Parts: sequence; C-alpha cells; structure tokens
Amino acid sequence: MEDFNKADQVATGTLEHYWMPFTANRQFKQSPRLLAQAEGMYYKDVNGRPVLDGTAGLWCCNAGHGRKAISEAVSKQIHEMDYAPSFQMGHPLAFELAERLAAIAPKGINKVFFTNSGSESVDTALKIALNYHRARGEATRTRFIGRELGYHGVGFGGISVGGIGGNRRTFSQQLLQGVDHLPHTLDIQQNAFCKGLPETGADKAEVLEQLITLHGAENIAAVIVEPMSGSAGVILPPQGYLKRLREITRKHGILLIFDEVITGFGRVGDAFASQRWGVTPDMITTAKALNNGTIPMGAVLIDDAIYDASMDAPEGAIELYHGYTYSGHPVAAAAALATLDIYQQERLFERTKSLEGYFEQAVHSLKGLPNLIDIRNTGLVAGIQFSPSDKGVGKRGFGIFETCFKNGTLVRATADTIALSPPLIVDEAQIDQMVNTLSDAITTVG
Ligand code: PMP
Repeated sequence: MEDFNKADQVATGTLEHYWMPFTANRQFKQSPRLLAQAEGMYYKDVNGRPVLDGTAGLWCCNAGHGRKAISEAVSKQIHEMDYAPSFQMGHPLAFELAERLAAIAPKGINKVFFTNSGSESVDTALKIALNYHRARGEATRTRFIGRELGYHGVGFGGISVGGIGGNRRTFSQQLLQGVDHLPHTLDIQQNAFCKGLPETGADKAEVLEQLITLHGAENIAAVIVEPMSGSAGVILPPQGYLKRLREITRKHGILLIFDEVITGFGRVGDAFASQRWGVTPDMITTAKALNNGTIPMGAVLIDDAIYDASMDAPEGAIELYHGYTYSGHPVAAAAALATLDIYQQERLFERTKSLEGYFEQAVHSLKGLPNLIDIRNTGLVAGIQFSPSDKGVGKRGFGIFETCFKNGTLVRATADTIALSPPLIVDEAQIDQMVNTLSDAITTVG
C-alpha cells in the first residue's frame, strides 16, 4: 500500500475518534482508504489518485458525481431557507417532491412520507402498516414477515424483519415480537450463472401460505422483502416469485412492502423494480439515489387506499403519530428535485436498459476464474460470488475488494460476493475497465 503515503500519514492523527459504521475499525486504521473528491464516474483519494466508481458510492449516486445542477439547487435552497419545522408546518418543495415521486411511482401509489434514510423508511413503513390495520378495526394484525438474508437497515424494526444473522445476533433479545422469515431465494445449485432472473424457485413463495395457516391472516400486518436483495450479495427474485407473493398477500388482506432502497431510481431499468418486474406492492421504501446520495433523505411511497383508510380519524386528529425533525428537509428536497430532473433529462433509467446487455456480457466473461462459483445480474447490478478461502468467510471477498481499490476501481464486498452497481452514466469502456480490474484482482488473490 505504498500509494497511501503522505496524505494518509497526515490524516492518521485524526483517525482515532471516529467509530466507523460496518467497518473493521482497527484494520481500517492500518491501511486507511480515504476518498476526498468525486466527479463523474471517478473518485479521487486523498493523494489525488483516481478511483473508478463501480458501486455508485453505496448504491446512491446513480447520476454520477459532482452534478452541478444538484449543488446549485442545494446552495440556492440554503440561502433561501435553510430549514423549516416539519411538524405542523410545511414548505412547498416537500409537496412538490412528493408530487414528482407519485408521478414516477407505480399506479395507485400516490402518497409520500419523508424520512432521512433507508432504515427510517423501513421502520416508518412497518408503523404505517400497523396504523392502517388499526384504523380499519383490525388491530390484531401485528405480525410481520420478512425474508432470510433480507437487509432492511439497522433500526430495531429493520433488523427484526431483516434476515442477516450478523446484524441481529448481538441484539437478539430486543427484536420485535411476532416476526417470521420466508426462505431466501438464492439457489446456486439450480441457478448458477443464470442471466437475469432465475427460472426456478418461485415455489419458495408458497411458504407464505404455510405461515398464514400457522398464525392466521387476521394476525399478520405485512410482508416486507427487497424485490432484489442487494446487501446480502445481489440475490434475484425467481421468475414469478414476486407475483406469487402479491397474489397471496392480496388474498389474505396482508400488506406487501417492497424495500427498494437499492433497486429504486433506475438500478434495474425502470424507476422502480416494481415496474420492471410488473408487481405493485402497497408500499415502497426508498432512500439513497432519491437525491443521488447528496444529502440524507428517504421516502416511503404509499398506496392511496392505505392513506385514505388512515385519514378516517376524527377531524383535527393526528392520523399517524410518527415523524422526524428532518422529514422533507428543504435542502434535501431541493437536491432530490434536481436529481429527478437529471434522471429525466438524461433518460438514465432507459440508459440502464440500453447498457444492461453489454454489462451482462462483460460480467459473465469472468466465469472460469479461480474460485468463482456464481454470477448474478440484472439491469446495472451484478453479484460475483466466490467460495470462501481457508482463512475464513469473507477473506477472499475482502482481498479482492482491497486489490481492486489499490488498482483503481471501487467494488463492494459482502462476505465472498463482489457487487458491481456503477452510476447509470457509466459507458462501455468504463464497464470494461471495472471488469478487467476485477478480473486481475481475482487472479491475484486466487
Ligand atoms: N433497505 C435496503 C434494501 C438497503 O439496501 C439499505 C442500505 N443498504 C437500507 C434499507 C438501509 O438504508 P440506510 O443505510 O440509509 O439506513
């Protein structure tokens, strides 16, 4: 790591106080990876070394980096009005943004509740589900059903419905009561190296019927899944699986929530995976690319029927006892409006569709490299999975990630799966560059 010289040493003195999230803090300090600038498809580290962004930050920066229209909108808004109270008061931009989001959401989803993150969007959606059933006189509907390997953020609600062991174990005595998990849909034996959505596995949705028989539909509030699991290593829904979840939930009066924090805003080729895969849930949770990752913001997109039923409270009563100081923050909303303009003007969701074939071919060219056991892809996202090394789970994945970074491309490792999810402005040459760097790193790490 000779590349990290002077600037990192300068920074070392300041590395002591920040407890970094989801990071091996002690290891990080030994070889810090510090980014300082970003423009277009590239980061620069603290030494000015360019690093190709193969991950849109953390699945956030779908319009690429350093977008002037966003920074100008943000700066204008801070000058005009920095903040407005979010309770009992409003400001026009939050209403305008809600309208814009409703316009790109699936039909029937026209209401928006603002949050500051994906985790908050998830907990908000769970609360809205409980509030809805209570408003309709079905207060016994309190159970939630998530899915194994699901990632729904880090609030207590999110880790309860989530299904990633590491995120739950330490906190297992304090999780929400009454939560079950559907089986995950990763099946490497059946579907390894399939391109796009796997052909087999839709029957895993039938477990939902069994859980309903076990607990009674009258006790179940909602099912929450990511249409495509991102954080657990890009796990795709088998063909017909989401449709089946929709049929079963609808039949039993159970709400269906799609967590689209990663899949939202063009990642899989339409505004939302719901549209690309033709299944409309009752609520969609979002964050990240909503304003290109520039300012913390999330949103829950809500079906009219949920909103309407919840409004059936006495006139003047608060319909939902929930909200955040920064819900619909004017500066975050300004950034989101400018971001949506860019998505539209540059037709970036269509761009995903026009590039996905090239991307698919490029990532599948890695097949045959050492220890590579699966490649999964859809839209502009791919998961490349390796068998764990003798040194333990995650070591090979981390080694590949570190080597790629050293060689100028940012990829993401979760356990031994490498995820690629570039900004949607990526071009073919840059796709080649990230895949070539990855290929070299796979061979180097072995
Ligand atoms: N849901 C999903 C599907 C996510 O991928 C994430 C973040 N990776 C979250 C929720 C949590 O978002 P945040 O980190 O903004 O709280």
